Amino acid sequence: MNPTKIEWCDMTFNPVTGCLHNCEYCYARKIANRFKTESGEFFVKSGIDEWQKWRKGDGIYTRYFNPQFHKDRLDEPQHHKKPRNIFVCSMADLFGDWVPDEIIKKVFEACENAPQHRYLFLTKNQSRYDNLHYKKILPWKALKFGINCWFGVTITNGQQLKPFFDDYNFFLSYEPIMGEIDRLPQNIKWVIAGAETGNRKNKSVPHFYLIEKLVKQCEYQKIPLFMKDSLAGIWGKELIQQYPWEV
Ligand code: SF4
Repeated sequence: MNPTKIEWCDMTFNPVTGCLHNCEYCYARKIANRFKTESGEFFVKSGIDEWQKWRKGDGIYTRYFNPQFHKDRLDEPQHHKKPRNIFVCSMADLFGDWVPDEIIKKVFEACENAPQHRYLFLTKNQSRYDNLHYKKILPWKALKFGINCWFGVTITNGQQLKPFFDDYNFFLSYEPIMGEIDRLPQNIKWVIAGAETGNRKNKSVPHFYLIEKLVKQCEYQKIPLFMKDSLAGIWGKELIQQYPWEV
């Protein structure tokens, strides 16, 4: 586990790395490719072949961002006795369709073995939460351990989201803000919002009114909001930085 500059958590825990979503603004891929230090067990069966195919294709994927499972990292949360807010798999989408249930279960077990922490998960693949719910794999908040788990969905605009079950701590990560959300879904307990950072060509800078609309929606629906520092220059006022477990 590592300390992080991500404002809404204290540490990151990455027993799985790599992702196949191919978001053009992906910071994790940039980091992975810059440091080229990842090594682990490929669980995409045709990993190497696929990797070569991708390299020949758009040149974006390298071995270093191919999905990998790092068994040796699973006990890391147990080494930290002080409670932390931990972003699990900040360098991956743990709930991508390519990640086997067995690996997700092992990650949940690793978290359950260190219940002093709060665990925050994020995915672009909301339907996997449904799938894991029906298989009774997703820890729900009525369970002692489930109460410490926060499950987020990343969106960048007003794309359709499925209803969220009330039995879980669900939240939205609206980042980078690219388009308008008409209405926030019900049963979400938190919204994190941020702008794209870095120097990417075609970088998307959110319009003030999108942020203002989000603030009003959160106020109206009484949903805690956490505005990342990347919004400071556009928002121009004091950032709202609320945590649902503190309000
Ligand atoms: S989902 Fe996240 S980790 Fe995966 S490509 Fe997109 S930004 Fe990167």
